[in-house]
Amino acid sequence: MMGTSKGEALIVDGKRLDGRKFDELRPIKIEAGVLEQADGSAYVEMGGSHVLAAVYGPVEMHPRHKMLPDRVVLQTQYEMAPFSVPDRKRPGPDRRSKEIAKVTKEALESVIYVEDYAQSAIRLHIEILQADAGTRVTGLTAASVALADAGIKMRDMVAACASGKIDDTIVLDLNGIEDNTGQADLPVAYAVGLDEITLLQMDGLMTEDEFEQGLKYAIDGCKTIYELQKDALKRRYKNE
Ligand code: UDP
Repeated sequence: MMGTSKGEALIVDGKRLDGRKFDELRPIKIEAGVLEQADGSAYVEMGGSHVLAAVYGPVEMHPRHKMLPDRVVLQTQYEMAPFSVPDRKRPGPDRRSKEIAKVTKEALESVIYVEDYAQSAIRLHIEILQADAGTRVTGLTAASVALADAGIKMRDMVAACASGKIDDTIVLDLNGIEDNTGQADLPVAYAVGLDEITLLQMDGLMTEDEFEQGLKYAIDGCKTIYELQKDALKRRYKNE
């Protein structure tokens, strides 16, 4: 959620509080195939946001009345661990987690060869182990690698990151303080090879020019993340 009040400065001497440049991502770590029992998995860190994604399937669709005759159903769960945030998060789904699961599902279904798995389900679980803003985009980045690791046929992989507005300045990849007290947040998921945006949301206000700048930052950020996703998959299959 975007803050509304102006507190401490978030940009000092042209730098952000954590020393980053305006168009700089937080340190990123991506690992593919981190879980033994799931068909595919990935672990991703974007700064202080740490996320695990696991994929089961394709499996038979249950409940059967939700089965689709001509395409797969990507059953998506986004869950924040109770210990992922400073104030213990009550376990179980809430409006926010349902919304994030829905946009995540849609962002990924647009790259999966959905007709190839008609009448089946693919189960995707995104677990936020530690949250410091940008968990939906970190979850998407992890989910995409987990799907690839599970061998799910896709037209491309989706990389995701958010840009935003703090102290009237457009910056890439907000951290927790920036997200809490900033003015806008623009999460983007982008399939780099296809040049397709598969998720675009905005919380807060930006002018048209600011939006263009924010989108450019986010797309460039996604290009960097996409390379790291591919590296993680290559490392995973070299070690087999
Ligand atoms: N957050 C929290 N408790 C909650 C939900 C969110 O502390 O119940 C924090 C968490 O750091 C999260 C941030 O607020 O990453 C921003 O949440 P938002 O809904 O904007 O989604 P996100 O940026 O994580 O995709």
